[in-house]
Amino acid sequence: MSTTIYIRDMGLDGPARTRPRLAAVGLWLRRHQRFIRVVQWCIVAIYATLLIVPTLLPLPPLAAHIWNNLTVFAEFVFWGIWWPGVLLSIVLFGRLWCGTMCPEGALSEFASRHGRKRSVPRWIRWSGWPFVAFACTTLYGQMISVYQYPLPALLILGGSTAAAIGIGYMYGNDKRVWCRYLCPVSGVFGLLAKLAPFHYAVDRTAWDACGSQSPAREPFNCAPLVAVRTMESASGCHMCGRCAGFRDAVNLEARSPNAEIVEVSGRSATHWDSLLVIFGMLGIATGAFQWSSSPYFVTIKQALATWLVEHGIIWPLQTSMPWWILTNYPAQSDVMTVLDGTVFLIYVFAVAIAISAIIGACLAAGVLITGRWSAKSFHHLSHALIPLAACGLILGLFSTTVTIITADGFSLSWLSEIRALSIAGTFAWSLWLAARIFHARCGSSARTALATALFAVAMAAPVTAWSFLFWIW
Ligand code: SF4
Repeated sequence: MSTTIYIRDMGLDGPARTRPRLAAVGLWLRRHQRFIRVVQWCIVAIYATLLIVPTLLPLPPLAAHIWNNLTVFAEFVFWGIWWPGVLLSIVLFGRLWCGTMCPEGALSEFASRHGRKRSVPRWIRWSGWPFVAFACTTLYGQMISVYQYPLPALLILGGSTAAAIGIGYMYGNDKRVWCRYLCPVSGVFGLLAKLAPFHYAVDRTAWDACGSQSPAREPFNCAPLVAVRTMESASGCHMCGRCAGFRDAVNLEARSPNAEIVEVSGRSATHWDSLLVIFGMLGIATGAFQWSSSPYFVTIKQALATWLVEHGIIWPLQTSMPWWILTNYPAQSDVMTVLDGTVFLIYVFAVAIAISAIIGACLAAGVLITGRWSAKSFHHLSHALIPLAACGLILGLFSTTVTIITADGFSLSWLSEIRALSIAGTFAWSLWLAARIFHARCGSSARTALATALFAVAMAAPVTAWSFLFWIW
């Protein structure tokens, strides 16, 4: 059946002929759900293989390469391509990855289809999970060296998948309760999706006007539990296409990447969003990417070690922990002592608090300069930081790609320029968003300019931290 015939089947035959091709892509996705499931199961098989098999092999020797050692290959695929690639894809296409390819979402939905189908309890619906889960997995991942060893990767990724299946089995009916409320990256994905130039637009008038006997009322299952009729944001939508064409009111459409943040975030932004963007993505993530290269980490550790020795407390310098608490690979000369772990946490939190304090103060001042204090406006402004925060995460994750590629003898002479251009471009993008939000608040060019200048000072804090990491240390 051709797409056109299908559109006619959906009751869209009149206007659909002139409908943009993008809407037809959404309808194609709706028609090909079975094909998407096959793709998802193939990815589940690849994911399980790359996650489990390396844990059964000996750790790779120093001379191992991507092309001759499965463990190094799996490390490269997971942390060098998969994660940064998924983040980039969400900025470009929305959460298409979640709806069409994510193995965890597919398994959770499958378990929900065949599980206990209980209603979702209140503790799961707590809005703080995306921030808490992101912060905890970021810190824990660094403490057990998840990017370097197969067992930590199995523990964190496999543990998350097992939890997704368990939650799916217990709660919801053919839904993705895990993805909606608990997935450690759902908060970040939801924020990044706000920048996507594509979304499913809902025409509420057409929705309400659609007759009850219309073929366009064909039911659909929105697995991540989005209230589709009132959907304004792309954050919760997994772009699966199942609602495309429903009531002749839902269509995949192009939009300005600025549109959602400027026009919708003023109503939807919350304090959890501000915490995740400022303290999580720009604070904790920066510290976590930076600590192992930082001379300040070494200075703090030496100072603390000296103090401990002077006071006769030696055990934190000598005690290691099991690999699932702190990195412990003596054969690789890679062991974190209790002191290392403690200094790591001190360092990351110090970086996160310093960056958050500067950003928080500048944003609050910007809000006050452009009108009366409003927490909602502060949270709205934090959304303007999303382009820069996304850039930091993607560049930080690509550092693993760079480490593996350069260790294999490839030269990346253009890397510095790409990093500088990405940071400069997203800095300007965030600044532009902030200027539009400030101007909408006060309408005054002078006050908007002053508040925007303060916003630039706020962004200078994480940019300075990245500059140390990428160019100075
Ligand atoms: S709103 Fe729900 S059903 Fe529609 S595309 Fe998004 S995730 Fe799929």
